[in-house]
Amino acid sequence: MAEIKADGQRQVAIIGGGAAGFFCAAMLAETIDAHNITIFERAENVLQKVKISGGGRCNVTHACFDPKELVKNYPRGTKELLGPFYTFDTSNTTEWFNKQGVSIKTESDGRMFPISDSSQTIIDCLWKATVLKGVALKTRCGVKQFNFAHNRWFISTDKGEFEADAIMVATGSSQQFWNILGHATNHSFVAPVPSLFTFNTQANLFQNLSGVAIQNAEVKINNSKLVSTGPVLITHWGLSGPAILKLSAWGARWLNEKDYQFSITVNWKPTWNKHQAFDWLMDVKKHHPKKKLATINPELPTRFWHSLIINTLGNEERLLADLPHLLYEKIATALTAYPIEITGKSTFKDEFVTAGGLALQKIDFKNFQSKLHPGLFFGGEVLNIDAITGGFNFQAAWTSGFLAAKGIEQFLIKKHTSA
Ligand SMILES: Cc1cc2nc3c(=O)[nH]c(=O)nc-3n(C[C@H](O)[C@H](O)[C@H](O)COP(=O)(O)OP(=O)(O)OC[C@H]3O[C@@H](n4cnc5c(N)ncnc54)[C@H](O)[C@@H]3O)c2cc1C
Repeated sequence: MAEIKADGQRQVAIIGGGAAGFFCAAMLAETIDAHNITIFERAENVLQKVKISGGGRCNVTHACFDPKELVKNYPRGTKELLGPFYTFDTSNTTEWFNKQGVSIKTESDGRMFPISDSSQTIIDCLWKATVLKGVALKTRCGVKQFNFAHNRWFISTDKGEFEADAIMVATGSSQQFWNILGHATNHSFVAPVPSLFTFNTQANLFQNLSGVAIQNAEVKINNSKLVSTGPVLITHWGLSGPAILKLSAWGARWLNEKDYQFSITVNWKPTWNKHQAFDWLMDVKKHHPKKKLATINPELPTRFWHSLIINTLGNEERLLADLPHLLYEKIATALTAYPIEITGKSTFKDEFVTAGGLALQKIDFKNFQSKLHPGLFFGGEVLNIDAITGGFNFQAAWTSGFLAAKGIEQFLIKKHTSA
């Protein structure tokens, strides 16, 4: 790709063969000659994260169609993504995949998947829209260095030297590439920390309860403003589920600073405060004085409710009528403000991302172009943008890929007309 073609067509180099790089290439291949686009991928295979995403089903996006609501799912990138989502959002994503013959379904929690329930469908679709159209793919061809001179980009790779008019960087969370990028440009980076992880705890409350789910709980991280509501899943090591994963994303940096040693307070019945829980207990006592605590249930999984009683009051066998007032207070507190020590984190295997990456101040979010170097574009996880779990991370890759492609087209036209 070293030479500018006689017809004046310009060359585009896409660094990174992941979701963002491939989507950008697919968008470009709709408007410019695909043979002028090259994807450089350092690994043997492309789209590897797409392959394993969503437990092999690929949670492509999320059924949230209002950009103002959509941005609320991005702890990093909330402000910057609003404009881009007005141009290309979840509905554009599903529409594009539909047009390629990939039907997308929505699950009850809003997550969207290909109806095949196979990430291979998405890989095949992206392959067809790029490589089969003539986009050049160079695998095992890591970019080691690049620089701008004489109005062109010079790219040094494992397989030799290349030139391009425009570059799209979509190298994901590879910190090795951050160094290359930092060296080649004056862009700066925000240090990486993990996001989307589960909380470890040794709390007795959860012993032998692995697999039990609480449908709706409010989880607060003590001494912080971090609070989240939603399902909580008890695992072998602690707590997972949407309420926990959301906290891990919004608190990614703060929790890292605490070395993942912190405490949380959980309300297992978020529609109640302590007084309302107490009133409910008094009401049940009034109507069923001969029952025991273990045989009533505030609509929580039975095994969990029993564990909550045992871990709060011990083996309490007395009838409700005989229980002292203080014990009712204790159980009302346990229901609505249960303290738990968190002792570490574990990887959430269905999805994880890195918080951190290219600092956002020097990016023009109209087209994801560098404000420092015209002709240099970015997309996907290389940016300091990440989301909670549920398909939002891919949506950022599709949106940035689309807008970068539009920006590249404009850039090439401008370059051509001013040549
Ligand atoms: C297990 C798992 C499951 C996930 N599931 C989901 C999900 O269901 N839904 C969702 O929305 N998100 C999911 N995610 C997050 C999502 O996969 C990422 O946000 C998304 O893949 C980012 O795309 P990207 O193109 O920016 O980066 P990547 O997909 O990481 O692609 C970057 C590519 O660049 C290449 N590269 C790096 N350095 C160089 C170099 N120097 N030269 C050339 N190439 C280079 C890499 O090898 C890689 O192929 C999941 C993540 C994981 C880890």
